Amino acid sequence: MKHLKNYYYPSSIEEALSLLTKESTEIIAGGSHLITAKSQSTNNLVDISRIGLNYIKKEDEIVRIGSTTTITDILESPITKEIGNGILTKACQLIADTPLRNVITLGGNIARRYPWAGLPVVLLVLDAEIVIKEQGGKSQTITASQLFESRKVRKDEIITEVIFPVKHGWFCRYEKFALTTVDYSWLTMAFSTKIEDGMIIDPHIAVSRIIKAKRIEEVEKFLKGKTISTLDLDEAVSKLKQAVNIISDYRSSKEYREHLLGVLFERMLKELKKEVEQ
Ligand SMILES: Cc1cc2nc3c(=O)[nH]c(=O)nc-3n(C[C@H](O)[C@H](O)[C@H](O)COP(=O)(O)OP(=O)(O)OC[C@H]3O[C@@H](n4cnc5c(N)ncnc54)[C@H](O)[C@@H]3O)c2cc1C
Repeated sequence: MKHLKNYYYPSSIEEALSLLTKESTEIIAGGSHLITAKSQSTNNLVDISRIGLNYIKKEDEIVRIGSTTTITDILESPITKEIGNGILTKACQLIADTPLRNVITLGGNIARRYPWAGLPVVLLVLDAEIVIKEQGGKSQTITASQLFESRKVRKDEIITEVIFPVKHGWFCRYEKFALTTVDYSWLTMAFSTKIEDGMIIDPHIAVSRIIKAKRIEEVEKFLKGKTISTLDLDEAVSKLKQAVNIISDYRSSKEYREHLLGVLFERMLKELKKEVEQ
């Protein structure tokens, strides 16, 4: 950060928001991306680690996690293990390595739509909501789909909290394909559904890395109302491959990614069948 002049440590959300009105200013949370980012133009950093956003609270069937809570804190909390039958903790376990998980924050993982980020697909399949504090102190609560598909977080706004429904009894799965445990993801996906009388009631499928993180509504519609024991897995997998407009990059071809997508989705559906048959 060649042009960095000031590093601020506000002690409240209001103070942080007022500092963010200065030109060429950016929030720093865990700092894991900012430190490696190529853009060096930032003059001022506003460190939000001391503004009271490090918490995990359960209220009835909802868990509220403050945005500066680290991935390690999420992993170590008994409360978060309940969310989506452990899907949030599984995704957190697969983020980078221990030293990085000690600094990476929930808010930092979702604020800028990094293609390799593990948590966006989890928020999407859990119907999580994101609370954003704007200038003037007004709060806006938006859905994960809005955050990842249509609304950017401006540099003068702060994500303060993520609200997770616990989704007791739901079938939830998360998969990240990478060459090693600390490698960036090649494909990330998550699947959740409510099950009633052996039937898929409310399917949510989200894919990222091979596309921008989003839900695949076409396949959700196809699965909705299907009886799991008679579900044609090949048909479901081929619907997903058709619905996702995969992009290639230097790491792997479109064909390889399409194959991976099919393998991971089939694995999830087989586990769903197994769970229902037990
Ligand atoms: C080697 C390496 C491997 C990694 N591997 C993975 C991986 O496998 N999976 C994975 O998911 N992630 C991985 N990451 C982490 C990921 O790439 C980002 O670095 C991380 O999510 C950023 O979180 P942070 O808290 O460090 O944010 P920072 O680096 O502090 O900030 C990132 C951006 O988000 C903004 N921001 C942060 N918090 C907020 C907030 N509350 N409100 C508004 N804006 C905010 C900042 O202004 C900045 O623009 C890896 C990182 C590294 C360095």
